[in-house]
Amino acid sequence: MFERYSRQIATGKISLKEQNAFAKEKIAIIGLGAIGSPLAVLLLRLGAKNIIIIDRDFVELSNLQRQSYVEEDIGNPKAEALKKHLLEIDSSAKIIAVVADIDKETIKILKNQDLVLDGTDNMETRFFVNDFCMKNRIPWIYAAAIGTTVTTMNIVPGKTACFECVFEKELTPGILDTCETAGILNSTNTHLAAYVAVEAIKILLGKKISECLYYHDSWTHKTTAAEVKKRKNCNACNGKYLHLQEKKTESVALCGSNSYHIKPAKIVNIDLEALAGKLKKTLVVETKGSIIHITLENTKISLFADGRAIIKNAKSPQQAKAAYARIIGI
Ligand SMILES: [Zn+2]
Repeated sequence: MFERYSRQIATGKISLKEQNAFAKEKIAIIGLGAIGSPLAVLLLRLGAKNIIIIDRDFVELSNLQRQSYVEEDIGNPKAEALKKHLLEIDSSAKIIAVVADIDKETIKILKNQDLVLDGTDNMETRFFVNDFCMKNRIPWIYAAAIGTTVTTMNIVPGKTACFECVFEKELTPGILDTCETAGILNSTNTHLAAYVAVEAIKILLGKKISECLYYHDSWTHKTTAAEVKKRKNCNACNGKYLHLQEKKTESVALCGSNSYHIKPAKIVNIDLEALAGKLKKTLVVETKGSIIHITLENTKISLFADGRAIIKNAKSPQQAKAAYARIIGI
């Protein structure tokens, strides 16, 4: 144990006793893309031995620029591909790979975890995870990266402000940028993964943690750390876990082909013209009346202003939802 971790013990920040304690902690990472996959590698190398990795998507060529996958992973589920790489780094670790969307059933896997980490790409899942973690008193770390900027915040139930204290309610889909509209630089997501890994080990070892909303631009190196306070009328902080009851975005198979109908949880009103303008920077987008047709790798997405979409060439309902989230960021 000592030899493997001798260099980080030498920093004086983590003792051998703490290193042993850290190895027993149970960590779950939801979403294994730009943030989740390098974060899993960092935590494993730091000495985490019990990690649940969850993702609904599969590896694509455009992921290799920033995510911890290799060419032969293309087409494989991210959770399974990452598990293989993690075990190559530390064969003694216990890695549970879950290929699934986080919903009312699958979220139960988080129940006995000591820490939950956000590698997701959408607000709907973050509100859902916040409610689950607040209800079950599990610390979690919110983490988002887009373009060259990152935002992150530690959430420790009963101690810090929560996600809903800060973000209050979900924004209209299509307003927030996604990796498809604003792109992402690999130094940006790895900066965020490095920041989160440090906060993760501090939370688990009971050390003093950051209680701010951290923002960093990895191009200009501008950093801000805004103080965040609990909001008096926050539902989650007052024991009202509305997002656990709410309907989630549905993905329903259409007959005859690999097509799915995506129905958002709520009625929305997307500014299709503005969204098409943003997407055109990186994708092929065609406007036909009140629908926009988007080509995303092999998948075709036809998006309506009310948030519904038809996804063609998806291998599963989860993959259809993943493609949808990449476009409109919910
Ligand atoms: Zn709150």
